[in-house]
Amino acid sequence: MDIQANTLTYTYMAGTPFEKKALHDMNVTILEGHFTSLLGHTGSGKSTFVQHLNGLLKPTSGNVSIGDWTIQAHTKQKGLFDLRKQVGMVFQFPEHQLFHETVLQDAAYGPENYGLSKADAKEKAAHYLRMCGIRDDLFDRSPFDLSGGQMRRVAIAGVLAIEPKLLILDEPAAGLDPEAHQMMMQLFYEWFKAEEKRSIILVTHHMEDAALYSDDIIVMDKGSINMKGTPAEVFSKTDELEALKLAVPESVKLLSLLNAKCGEKVDTQAFTLDD
Ligand code: ADP
Repeated sequence: MDIQANTLTYTYMAGTPFEKKALHDMNVTILEGHFTSLLGHTGSGKSTFVQHLNGLLKPTSGNVSIGDWTIQAHTKQKGLFDLRKQVGMVFQFPEHQLFHETVLQDAAYGPENYGLSKADAKEKAAHYLRMCGIRDDLFDRSPFDLSGGQMRRVAIAGVLAIEPKLLILDEPAAGLDPEAHQMMMQLFYEWFKAEEKRSIILVTHHMEDAALYSDDIIVMDKGSINMKGTPAEVFSKTDELEALKLAVPESVKLLSLLNAKCGEKVDTQAFTLDD
């Protein structure tokens, strides 16, 4: 599903003294099958933008199309059900959204809600829990008895179990230690590579992740697009990025050039930035 934002504008609390324009005439195309990272200083509008992609927010004006769906101010809630089967969203600290009695029930909630029988939903959930590194003996435990890292993996398994085509990740590794961070990103990248038409949009402050995994990078500033290109193109514009308070480590520049030269991504399991 290609994504196209057309003069997309979003204002929080429009018409009140507190109104805040978060997106301003934003135009952008994001291609199916690409891993796209969204960079930008805090408050530049990244989260507001991605929340339009499954209709959590609706434009104040303009529109955004996701495959065959177009979301605009008057889009009815009913039309969004099918879209939400295709677009999985992992927010910051997704473990805060766990609420079922057992791990398996929690991960099965999404697929069951989207039409699978109880038994099929549990089977799907079990598959994705294992893929996320949750052992079978934890399936009947309360998610709240698990460690923070395990809880996050349960929440992510629940999103993957819907089998979306587009996965939106808003700072998914926030608060994890470096090893858990790398494992989490590797998991998403393996999911992405497993089928050709899958897409990821990653909102991140983490330049290394953007350089390691992305086909495209979009830089936002003050509610619109400031730059778009490959990691090598974007990370070579050091001065422009620094003007947006985005400091680019040398390692990130080198890695982007290396990936561009190889024509494919460096095997991140064999190579880390500390090597
Ligand atoms: P980012 O994800 O890049 O940090 P956001 O999309 O969260 O940016 O925020 C864009 C702008 O909208 C910021 O000025 C922020 O303060 C404002 N904003 C975000 N969420 C709300 C909200 N719920 N109510 C009012 N203003 C908000």
